Amino acid sequence: MAIDSLDVKKKEVLPEDNALIEFQETLKEAVEILHYPEQVYEFLRKPMRFLEVSIPVRMDNGQTQIFQGFRAQHNDATGPTKGGIRFHPDVTADEVKALAGWMSLKCGVTDLPYGGAKGGIICDPRKMSQDELERLSRGYVRAVSQLVGPTKDIPAPDMYTNSQIMAWMLDEYDHIREFDSPGFITGKPITLGGSKGRETATSKGVLYTLQRVCELRKLELKDTRVIIQGFGNVGSYLAKYLYELGAKVIGIGDVLGALYDENGLDIPYLLENRDSFGIVSNRFDDAISNQELLEKECDILIPAAISGVINQHNADRIKCQIVIEAANGPTTKDALTILDERGILVVPDILANSGGVIVSYFEWCQNNQGFYWTETEVDTRLKEKMNTSFENVYHTAKKYGVNMKIAAYIEGIQKLAEASRLRGWLK
Ligand code: GLU
Repeated sequence: MAIDSLDVKKKEVLPEDNALIEFQETLKEAVEILHYPEQVYEFLRKPMRFLEVSIPVRMDNGQTQIFQGFRAQHNDATGPTKGGIRFHPDVTADEVKALAGWMSLKCGVTDLPYGGAKGGIICDPRKMSQDELERLSRGYVRAVSQLVGPTKDIPAPDMYTNSQIMAWMLDEYDHIREFDSPGFITGKPITLGGSKGRETATSKGVLYTLQRVCELRKLELKDTRVIIQGFGNVGSYLAKYLYELGAKVIGIGDVLGALYDENGLDIPYLLENRDSFGIVSNRFDDAISNQELLEKECDILIPAAISGVINQHNADRIKCQIVIEAANGPTTKDALTILDERGILVVPDILANSGGVIVSYFEWCQNNQGFYWTETEVDTRLKEKMNTSFENVYHTAKKYGVNMKIAAYIEGIQKLAEASRLRGWLK
């Protein structure tokens, strides 16, 4: 399917949200439950550093276009900051700040020696050539090069960025620094020092979480009906694994629409026919909208695309037992209150989708050591970390009598506050 054909169809618009307000409100609630001083909230509500850059890029038509980019470093008390770079037309400064905060909490929950960061560029990669994307990626690294580095702030892929983009960024960084520094960025191609299993890490992490939840809820994976909203890197691999394990994937959604079949979708066919942006719904006449998909009955609902899709407008119509947040921030705070009241278990993003940053950490360790692991070693360690993190959050939820989202925040905040206190930043 030619990418140009997307222009004729309008992108589906999902309800608006403000990720930064969501992040700050939940943070405040968790800080209060911990009886920490207000100062902890004041310190963590915004990134310690935030850079906004203008990136001039020569386009294929000879014109120069100026792109706007951001890098937020939320907190570096626990180590260098870490987090992906997203290329998306709707990226905002506030969104990048919230995502950086979530990365700090995610690294706390999973006990990684990192703080959180996030980057973004306002652009539409679906409308850009590979050459333009390369020039934009290199331009971004030149613009932020003072702020990043293997022991300072380590970027990675995020929405609409991939290993090729990481490779261009690494090359640009190496040129600027004049030495080889594979640990500057993760999610690289394996030939350039990437880790085996990094590409599938987030989806495998979600899968391990889902298996753990099924055990707890006494559900047989083979008997479960799953809906995955999002068919990009995370959603597509997850659909593949679930299909292979015999679960019934009855719905998938991509950026243009969604597909639903109560008897189970033919996932191998959909994977075969999706384009490089994960779009396949436009090949079917019976495609439905993402809103409709989210409200279909299933056992496990996995939002794996953008934030704010489960919100106060649809939370009372969600018909599942369990929501696993594979995207960052897909359930708003208001929606979570409604789902809690309805007895729907929500496994939070900063736990469920942490597989990506966990294997990024493994990649960075391998780069630092110059010694590379087998895929089995990566997978075994990933599973171990996912399971330990899950147990910790689960027990914290029981201990404080809170939902798993608040429990995950508590875990993350405790680490950040303790490190900040030990450094003398906070009392
Ligand atoms: N972008 C991913 C996330 O949101 C991965 C970040 C990383 O690997 O540093 O968790």
